[in-house]
Amino acid sequence: MTNMKIAVLGLGIMGSGMARQLLAAGFDVTVWNRSREKAAALGDAGARVAGTPADAATGAAIVVAMLANDDVSRSVWTGEDGALAVMDQGAIAIESSTLTGDWVFELAREAVARGVRFIEAPVTGSRDQAAQGMLRFLVGGDAATIDAARPAFDAMGSALVHLGPVGSAATVKLANNFLCGVQAASLAEAIALFEKHGLDVEQAMAILFDGAPASPMVKGVGRRMLDRDYAPHFLVPLMAKDLGYAAQALADVGITSAIAQAARQRFVEADAAGEGHRDIAAIVEPLRGA
Ligand code: NAP
Repeated sequence: MTNMKIAVLGLGIMGSGMARQLLAAGFDVTVWNRSREKAAALGDAGARVAGTPADAATGAAIVVAMLANDDVSRSVWTGEDGALAVMDQGAIAIESSTLTGDWVFELAREAVARGVRFIEAPVTGSRDQAAQGMLRFLVGGDAATIDAARPAFDAMGSALVHLGPVGSAATVKLANNFLCGVQAASLAEAIALFEKHGLDVEQAMAILFDGAPASPMVKGVGRRMLDRDYAPHFLVPLMAKDLGYAAQALADVGITSAIAQAARQRFVEADAAGEGHRDIAAIVEPLRGA
């Protein structure tokens, strides 16, 4: 048991699992979420529910954010009733959302200017790993701050990799999701191809599942595409966001990534076709109907 106060901002698929793991580890947890019903569920599990990010962050030793994108992160940390302005000197801000390196770097500068210590800590793993405390944290920041926050990381994850200064982890996380997004997009096209040829799709997919393409991504998302199981692990628009951020990161170093842009288009099209509330496996649906 520990009475360290931790605030969690953002209780979506990932943040809710992370908050529950912090509660299970005995931390004094306060939560905030835009939609109140998700916060209320954490309240039932023992968290204090705050009305604003600032309210949640007041008096917290650590504030963890797990939010949709750069714009949301900016408003929750630095907007009206934002968390950063009220944090204690020496408290630790952990930004775990998947974001651009540019925004994370700017946020770090703002935090440090206010006397708040800052770590970026995007994650690999998905809904199930968040719920089980089995995330892998990709971390950018200074080692002493990471050590100070380690009890929280230990509660939420099973591994932590310190990749370098702030910005390093955003780069690696975007590359990670770039490769995942490309695999999911090509997999959807392959499944649509098999179906349109009238093949035994299970038999055809077994070749991919057993062969060189058989990454955990291909096996996991491929199975869900075949089963039409679209209960969300990772939502369609968030992968579109990550592929856009990855394309931008590549453009920033002079690489025009037609691959990232083409893969992103599959997710954008699926979102426009009404699949935005579903798992990324649902990107196969518009191709089935094409
Ligand atoms: P999610 O379930 O869609 O949750 C998104 C969170 O952002 C929710 O708390 C949502 O609040 C909040 N949000 C969205 N728009 C907002 C706005 N305008 N103002 C305030 N809050 C807003 O997504 P998730 O899967 O938990 O993902 C969270 C982050 O983790 C994303 O950056 C994602 O890329 C990253 N990530 C996800 C996975 C995964 O497999 N799911 C894995 C690794 C990293 P509401 O509840 O009110 O909508």
